Amino acid sequence: MKTNAIQSIKGFKDILPSEIKYYKYIEKIIFDISNQYAINELRLPFIEKSELFMKSIGDNTDIVNKEMYNFIDKNGESICLRPEGTASVVRSVIEHNLVYDRGLKKQKYMYYGPMFRHEKPQKGRYRQFNQFGIEYFGFSDTNSDLELIILGGHVFDKLGLKNIKLHINSLGDKNDKKKYAGIVTKFFTSIKSKLDDYQLNTLNKNPLRLLDSKKDNIKDILEQIPTMTDTLSNESKTRFNILLDKLDAIGIDYILDNSIVRGLDYYNDTVFEWRDMSLGSQNAVCAGGRYDSLVQNTGGNDVPAIGFAMGIERIVELIKNIDISFDEQQFVIPIISTLAETESYGVELATSLRHRYPYLSFYATDSSASLSSQTKSALKINDTFIILITNENIKDKSITVRMKENKMNDTILTNDELIKLMDKSYG
Ligand code: ATP
Ligand code: MG
Repeated sequence: MKTNAIQSIKGFKDILPSEIKYYKYIEKIIFDISNQYAINELRLPFIEKSELFMKSIGDNTDIVNKEMYNFIDKNGESICLRPEGTASVVRSVIEHNLVYDRGLKKQKYMYYGPMFRHEKPQKGRYRQFNQFGIEYFGFSDTNSDLELIILGGHVFDKLGLKNIKLHINSLGDKNDKKKYAGIVTKFFTSIKSKLDDYQLNTLNKNPLRLLDSKKDNIKDILEQIPTMTDTLSNESKTRFNILLDKLDAIGIDYILDNSIVRGLDYYNDTVFEWRDMSLGSQNAVCAGGRYDSLVQNTGGNDVPAIGFAMGIERIVELIKNIDISFDEQQFVIPIISTLAETESYGVELATSLRHRYPYLSFYATDSSASLSSQTKSALKINDTFIILITNENIKDKSITVRMKENKMNDTILTNDELIKLMDKSYG
């Protein structure tokens, strides 16, 4: 690369063909499974009004505080690149009356696409990354929590990822959350001298966030603090226990984890993360929970909801370490042509074969290169079946093929013979 060449922006990465296969593999599984659960897709804008996220996610959260890509548009409006999907989905379902029309409509939606956060780029953390998310609207009973968790597990199972563990917790209702935040504040205030400046600020603004701190200076303290589930109201405690019983009954393993507090304001009751410890400190691959008051707080009706978002880049990292055979490692047939510049016979043949065999891939080698260099690159792609067109072939409209069965020697075929041969093998 020349030193003065323009480079991509820090934290934004190109996805090259060598990685695309992982994305496609994951995307197919995601869309197939969403379909199995009768979930409809929403495709939403990448840019929204900044206030949408400020109001829903909460002022004292990492996303709103420091990670949002805010801009003033040419017409003076504050807009931003979406940092997450849930608030956009909620905006959309209210705007299009998808979940309430003179009564509650139960709906399930999924989305897939890029999110943008201005955070410190590092392994598993990019400024543009992809999320697959699911949102269930109108469902309040624990069976919807259960189904969503099953769905997440189904995706990981289908991907062949065996070491992802479900961590679960309950935040209770608004009052429970407030009460517990009070307990946490009191606890940490009593040991204030042990906290660093960042933690003191968190203690002030969003004390529950101290619970998912990975810093060593408060590790021991976190083990002594009473758990959130101890403080829950009877209603939330019962609800949570019903869900755990259902998970037990169905055989889904989980870890009760008091560090799952979720950074965003809108969550209540069930919250969970799926983690794979092999990823190091950015080990959450999926996170979600209930957000029963968000639709109403965003200007809609009182519609309970639950959802999750999966981070695709972290899943790609995991997929790279397992043995998978990719569908798209399909049969590519090279077509070598050594024709005069004025001839288009090779292109015509490739075109008609592409129409006849839509699932096959044909790769025309560089016809301006020598026969030996074209043969070399053709063999790299496919060492069992190669099509070759020479000036001799043009004269009698024939085709030369080299097949393994024939020890890759030249075999001259008519067009009909080629079709017959290919129909037998690939038709
Ligand atoms: P973290 O604690 O890792 O910052 P988060 O709570 O900010 O996660 P969510 O907003 O819940 O993450 O997003 C859901 C998932 O999206 C995460 O579990 C993770 O897999 C992925 N994700 C979040 N931020 C990034 C990022 N900057 N780069 C890559 N993936 C990300
Ligand atoms: Mg984050």
